Amino acid sequence: MATITAQRLPGGRLEVLFDQPGSKVNTFSTPVFDELERLLDDLEADVDIRAAVFRSAKPGCFIAGADINELRTLIRPQAADAFIARGQRLFSRVAALRMPTVSVIDGACLGGGLEFALSTTCRLVSGDRRCVLGLPEVTLGLIPGWGGTQRLSRLIGAAPALEMICGGRPVDGPRAVELGLAAGCAASGDLDRALDELLAAAPDRTDPDMPAPAVSAQQTAAAKQRIAAGRLHHEAPLAALQVVRASAGTSMAAGLDLERAAFVARVRSRAGRNLMRMFFNRDRLRKERWGITAAPLPVRRPAVLGAGTMGAGVAWALGDAGLPVVMRDVDQDRLDRGMQAARSMYDYPLRRGRMTAADVEERLGRIEAATDLAALEAADLVIEAVTEDLDLKKRVLRALEERVGADTVIATNTSSLPIDELAAALRRPERLVAVHFFNPVNRMPLVEIARAPGTADAVTATALALARGLGKTPIVVGGRPGFVSNRVLFPYLLEALHLAGEIEDLDGLDRLAGGFGLPMGPYRLMDEIGIDVTVKIADSLKRSFGDRYRCPEPARALVAAGMLGRKSGAGFYRYGAGRDARPNPAAAALRPAGERRAATGDDLHRCLALMVNEASRCLEEGIVNEPMPLDMTMILGTGFPQDRGGILAHADDHGAARIVAALEALRDRHGERFAPAELLRRVAASGARFYDDAAPASS
Ligand code: NAD
Repeated sequence: MATITAQRLPGGRLEVLFDQPGSKVNTFSTPVFDELERLLDDLEADVDIRAAVFRSAKPGCFIAGADINELRTLIRPQAADAFIARGQRLFSRVAALRMPTVSVIDGACLGGGLEFALSTTCRLVSGDRRCVLGLPEVTLGLIPGWGGTQRLSRLIGAAPALEMICGGRPVDGPRAVELGLAAGCAASGDLDRALDELLAAAPDRTDPDMPAPAVSAQQTAAAKQRIAAGRLHHEAPLAALQVVRASAGTSMAAGLDLERAAFVARVRSRAGRNLMRMFFNRDRLRKERWGITAAPLPVRRPAVLGAGTMGAGVAWALGDAGLPVVMRDVDQDRLDRGMQAARSMYDYPLRRGRMTAADVEERLGRIEAATDLAALEAADLVIEAVTEDLDLKKRVLRALEERVGADTVIATNTSSLPIDELAAALRRPERLVAVHFFNPVNRMPLVEIARAPGTADAVTATALALARGLGKTPIVVGGRPGFVSNRVLFPYLLEALHLAGEIEDLDGLDRLAGGFGLPMGPYRLMDEIGIDVTVKIADSLKRSFGDRYRCPEPARALVAAGMLGRKSGAGFYRYGAGRDARPNPAAAALRPAGERRAATGDDLHRCLALMVNEASRCLEEGIVNEPMPLDMTMILGTGFPQDRGGILAHADDHGAARIVAALEALRDRHGERFAPAELLRRVAASGARFYDDAAPASS
């Protein structure tokens, strides 16, 4: 079945309809390009056609860009060059058609979709909310490749074009008209009339020989400033800026060559490749079933045990998603604090006017606070988020099981305790699953889900469905303590604690970590987690994995001195009323006496090498079956830089052999915690990689 069909209308008009079979959206792919090529052959040969109009049959979508499966193949630079060159040729043929051409856009017109529309004589847009026009390529670490950098700047001028291209944000219909990107905007139902008027007025076409506009020094500086202040990884927006600047005064053909070369360079670059991978991985994680075929059980009356940091966050998430939820803690005071914490999660949307006070009350009204366990009797799913203490949790779970129905699913939010031991505390262990949310629950997208040995498939399926229902990205990992996130993160944090005795400037190591792309360095992160919590998790992981999780003294000294991190006003840093944190001299003074040196990049790599090592162990033990879920866990759960692709992708870039050599040298000096994992050794010895970049990214 074809995507593109054409119908002749009276008056010499040809109406071309995009309607990709079996899909909610239209995209460009090799087969669609084949169809477009045949259509262009006909259009070029047919002298009777007076105007060609391009429309979409998909509600809410014109053309959403390139097909994701086709994009996957672009990870190979030669494939990228050929696919980009073909799109450029086809769109240039559209631009050179003798008759006027109009794109009638009544929905998302993004990436390649907008580049196609830019090659038509003009664009007519709707005022519908879903009608957005944009070039989001930079958000994938790429740049527009099918003429977007060339045609947009010629059409609307360099400065607004740079804003759209380098920011990656779409504009709506009315704004497209203001920018000169669209010739007119009408209500969806009024587009036919507006189209007749537009064609009757014989739309102007952009001169195909027009040179690209110059970009002034001021415009360049403004674009760079916006890029620096933006959230996106900087390389792709800077590359797009460079293409637009270098194209100034050139012909379209020369500009397209520049654009194509820069696109291929992006695909070749580490950041480009990794950001593309992120896009595919997110897509895959959205659909992944993790081998579970059982249907999820319905969740209509969830409950949460514990109203602390996590309990309050989880109760908030459930209430916010529309579910009535019971939140239980041991006394009213803690419940009040939990309710207050849940309320504060609405501060931002309230301030921004995204919600009304009534919306907030309605959502918070779904949370029922209770001190009596009896309030949980009717719950079909209970998420346990009580203090991280094995005996306490076992007791709580046992008491809970006495109260709830035989089919109630019980989820534990433990960070580091063995879930097989928690399951063993239950009479029906098959109902227990770990559902590990991240702090703060309202902002963190990841939920790690882990099974105990006997967890029923329907129970895991329920946890997956619940996490997705809350708008989270669940990743199923093996059920050993610390799952992936804490197990892999902690050797890095603990090594920073070991290093605290060797280096003078702790904030220096944090700055190096920032330079690597981490959202904050290890000391700052421990302050955020809480030094007491850090010690507790380390001790708990040590019970399961031994000495490599031994927590060095400086952390315990801080806890003893009441310096618990941000929550107590001081930890490795001191926290004032503002957001500024300054190194805490009192913390530095608690370190054992001895000679110290300045922190270097090697120190950061020493911490990272231990992360790589533990990640290799997780693969070896089958905690994950492939690198992707592990790397996505570290990116989504711990803020590992996206453009580095995760810790195992970093190992590929840095070189497994180099990491093993560093670990062995460190083992000689500092002991067994640096012993390289068997799998890492094998990867290093064979010259293999964790990811096979020659092959297309996994589908
Ligand atoms: P917290 O100390 O803030 O809160 C724990 C709450 O549990 C307290 O309010 C306490 O009164 C309550 N509690 C104790 N016994 C109870 C009982 N019998 N019934 C009901 N409530 C009881 O701890 P937290 O940070 O919210 O952590 C809770 C769980 O979530 C722990 O297992 C922790 O490892 C895990 N976790 C924490 C984080 C984090 O960053 N804080 C992140 C992920 C997971």
